[in-house]
Amino acid sequence: MPLPAFVAPSARSGKVILVCALSSVCAALIFSPQHAKHSVDQDDAAGAPSASPNREAADTARAAQPAPQPAAPAPASEATPQPVVRSATIKSSFAEAAQRLGLDSRTAALLAHAFSGEIDFRRDLKAGNTISLVVDPPEAGNASAQSQPATPLAVRIATGSTSHELFLYRNLEGKPFYYTKDGASTTPAFSRYPLAYERVSSEFALRRLDPVTHRWQSHDGVDLAAPAGTPVHATARGTVAFIGRQTGYGKVIVLRNPPPYQTVFAHLSRFAKGLHRGTQVRRGQVIGYVGSTGWATGPHLHYEVHVDSVPKDPLTVALPGKNPLDATERAQFAKEADRLAALL
Ligand SMILES: [Zn+2]
Repeated sequence: MPLPAFVAPSARSGKVILVCALSSVCAALIFSPQHAKHSVDQDDAAGAPSASPNREAADTARAAQPAPQPAAPAPASEATPQPVVRSATIKSSFAEAAQRLGLDSRTAALLAHAFSGEIDFRRDLKAGNTISLVVDPPEAGNASAQSQPATPLAVRIATGSTSHELFLYRNLEGKPFYYTKDGASTTPAFSRYPLAYERVSSEFALRRLDPVTHRWQSHDGVDLAAPAGTPVHATARGTVAFIGRQTGYGKVIVLRNPPPYQTVFAHLSRFAKGLHRGTQVRRGQVIGYVGSTGWATGPHLHYEVHVDSVPKDPLTVALPGKNPLDATERAQFAKEADRLAALL
């Protein structure tokens, strides 16, 4: 393919602006091998993460409740032992409060992860915030069960004026997940940003005058300015579909993420060690480092998100939550969540 005319950045009087000269032509080059098949995988495609807006004020809810003392399981009725509510006020950290509530470290970590889309436990939790749990009642006749760590059926964290609730869902293998009342996951499966950037130096644009090639071209991604050497993270799990050099992109990595997503990371100074075509990467894994290889006038990451092979604005594209429930599960789950929420 004929290369677009390349104008050396130095020709432009030393002005330090970060530009990116990646045309849709180059993008097509990179993506052509993967165009073939993309069935929409419902598990991954559906449902952008949505925080449940249905938050009642913690204080009101609390006032209406009797003191959440564990209702001792009624000895007479074997039929349906009532779940137990436990509450703790945070003194120093979530981990410490979780321990007082009888949660093991694994469950505490699971909850921290589950809430991470809504609450940053280190930043947002303060002394005096409260955690309430609904747990299964201890098994009748088993005294030691009282001290056994439980996986809570429902968790409410009240931070000042707002409260956040998540409810337990177990998949067929019994693996625990937490969702909001309406069945949405707050655990991001896809991060918005692949690095800690300083500013957006060039936005996504369908058509713009390219400062390097002096042609009208689309800008299929976003340019995130950051110092050379800043680590670049995979924004979702995926497989390395391309790693190497491409005209314009310089050192570039293309990840095939859960369908229908693909992501592109360009102008890297170097790649993370051990990556090659076919390598599986986790969300958050460092895959390379910011640079200015290819057509770039300064260090920045050119980042693209493709949905069904169509480039979308990475700053606004809808990103999926983790393991969304299907419609039937969602209806059942919402019913059960309502029941548990009433106990909190
Ligand atoms: Zn760019």
